[in-house]
Amino acid sequence: MDSSSNGSQASESALRQPHPQVRAPESTLVGVDIGGTKIAAAAITPDGRVLGRAQVATTDCASYEAFVQALIALVDRVLEAAGMDSRTLAGIGLGCPGPLDPERGTVHDPYTLPLPDGADIVTPLRRRYGVPVVLELDTFAAALGEHWLGAGAGHEFVACVMIGTGIGCGLVRHGKVTRGARGAYPEIGHHVIDPSGPLCYCGARGCWEALASGTAIGRAGREAAASGRSSRLLELAGGRADTVTSEMVFRASREGDRAAHEIVARAAEATAIGVHNVIHFLAPDAIILGGGVMQHYDLFAPAIEQALAAITMVPRQGISVTRAQLGPDAGLVGAARCVALALQEGRASRS
Ligand SMILES: [Zn+2]
Repeated sequence: MDSSSNGSQASESALRQPHPQVRAPESTLVGVDIGGTKIAAAAITPDGRVLGRAQVATTDCASYEAFVQALIALVDRVLEAAGMDSRTLAGIGLGCPGPLDPERGTVHDPYTLPLPDGADIVTPLRRRYGVPVVLELDTFAAALGEHWLGAGAGHEFVACVMIGTGIGCGLVRHGKVTRGARGAYPEIGHHVIDPSGPLCYCGARGCWEALASGTAIGRAGREAAASGRSSRLLELAGGRADTVTSEMVFRASREGDRAAHEIVARAAEATAIGVHNVIHFLAPDAIILGGGVMQHYDLFAPAIEQALAAITMVPRQGISVTRAQLGPDAGLVGAARCVALALQEGRASRS
């Protein structure tokens, strides 16, 4: 699961922005959102104010040692930007693509990060700062962020679906991340929607992710351009079918290109079925849809609304299906919230 490509929704963020007059309280947290393209971090107060930010390109962290050094430099920059020193730091939360083990603080053969199997990215930060450091899967951290300060606020059971490069779904119940047996993460983006659909890298056919992620939409666009079904997509890509992106597909669809419209309609239908299934599996009271692809939520909404209207077996009154509010900040604030909750519950170790 990789939903690190959440697009640039910062301008839509509902977060309170840095305020130079706000002094960092003693219990300030640092949230870190580790993605395949960049690692972003922010100092965040326990009530959700962002005091300082910094980021680094993931490509600048080519080895485990470089990765850890970059994390430490990033936290130092965030503390400086917030006007803090490390004595006022209460804890660090890391949101990271999987697979990972949150209890051990290790990342396992990640598809998108330059880290070896079993890389411990928690212990070096604990040693450097002497504060609790918590690791959480990126989509679950984002779900916690949206529940804390965004579209999930006040809801009991939130399923937060992030549709970007991949599709991930974080679950939050009563304000806490909820996982499966033995702490395993459910992989809702890989539930099968069309058994005769395209092969997914996970080995199954027709997963939600293989049908509606930005990667799937871009690939379908490249096929349409290469086969001559969309001259507009080929034109948008400067005549190079292999450079068609999902954004070009959305643009061509909005301009009335038939092949692009069909690609988007298929992704929307898959997403509507995905949402319908999540409601039947889990009976949440809120489904939040975020990630870069959901910047085109308007193109997906009619299919989703149609699917919702057809639900008969789960009480659909009171189920809120909305777009995410925090954009890429969801993972940052959610990571900070993870460590805040660990501190509150006394399960955060400093060593
Ligand atoms: Zn899959």
